[in-house]
Amino acid sequence: MSFDITNKCNFRCLHCYNRSGENPVIAKELTDDEVLEFAYDLANLKLFNFCFCGGEPFLRFELMCKVAEILSASGSMVSFVSNGSLITEEKAKKLLASGVTRGQVSLDGDNPVSYERLRGLEGSFEKAVNAIKILKEVGFKEVDVAFCPTSWNINEVESTFLLCKELGVSGFRVQPLMLLGRGKENAESILPTPLQYRELVKTINLMKEKYMFEEGSTCAVCSLTPSAAHNMNIEWGDPVDHLIRFPTIVEHCSTFAGLKADGSIQVSPYLPITVGNIRRHKFSEYCDKGLARMWEIPKVKELARRVVSVKDMGRSDKAIPTVWFDDDIDLDLIDDNLLGGADERSKTCV
Ligand code: SF4
Repeated sequence: MSFDITNKCNFRCLHCYNRSGENPVIAKELTDDEVLEFAYDLANLKLFNFCFCGGEPFLRFELMCKVAEILSASGSMVSFVSNGSLITEEKAKKLLASGVTRGQVSLDGDNPVSYERLRGLEGSFEKAVNAIKILKEVGFKEVDVAFCPTSWNINEVESTFLLCKELGVSGFRVQPLMLLGRGKENAESILPTPLQYRELVKTINLMKEKYMFEEGSTCAVCSLTPSAAHNMNIEWGDPVDHLIRFPTIVEHCSTFAGLKADGSIQVSPYLPITVGNIRRHKFSEYCDKGLARMWEIPKVKELARRVVSVKDMGRSDKAIPTVWFDDDIDLDLIDDNLLGGADERSKTCV
């Protein structure tokens, strides 16, 4: 499960798909008490994995620690994504003690010039690099990096990866620029060309051959059996994949849900539709009423079918709200009886 603990952000990155700091959700964010009530409810569900997203989660740091304590005590793995700018040694230690074991920091470039051009804040590159170092030093099990390709930084993918390798990062994730939110507004200046994307994919495939090893094999660079530090994972993500798979092969049993900062339950962060709100009913009640089957809902399928490539995300259609600009289509699994009530199959899936 992912949870936007806030949509406020101290950055205004040019590519931010959910327009953090400016989107309509900010005015309606859950209070601390509402978030804690949600956390206690979730603890009973014993989630596999819970991730703090945003916005910048460290803007609600104390709350983040309290939620992490509740969920890690129930056996869930707890992680976060962050721009890294607010991470200090003291905070990292406290978060680790609260049960958070994994973190992801964004680093889209190997130098301050290209990174800060996208992120808009002087000094932010150094802070992101420092955050990675701190998280490693205080003992986070996994520290990953997300790299967003733009027409400006796309040639830095390998050098940024090598910088991350030096820093002891566990995983390096790249996915196409989302044509949503500020990414859509700024597409003209930052969207890579199709040729640049082809080069990027080729580079990533070559990087995998060069830097990723099978268990027990020998490192081509230093001839040693690769240690964890050597064997860093490289991922090229497809953000559209779940919009094709979930409404078809796993429609009866999805394993992921996201909660927006205003308590609404999203089907996908890339679709303008929500299927409940924890201000109306507890999250566990939605699970009992078949939340794992939310991809069966005809309106959800209809919206998902519109998106078969990243390009489709930015398509404007007057009849459909624009994701992260307009209010979502607000359905309620329980109040609107969307799935005809609970059944044993959905309970088993949850
Ligand atoms: S991309 Fe991340 S850091 Fe940048 S504005 Fe959005 S939430 Fe904030």
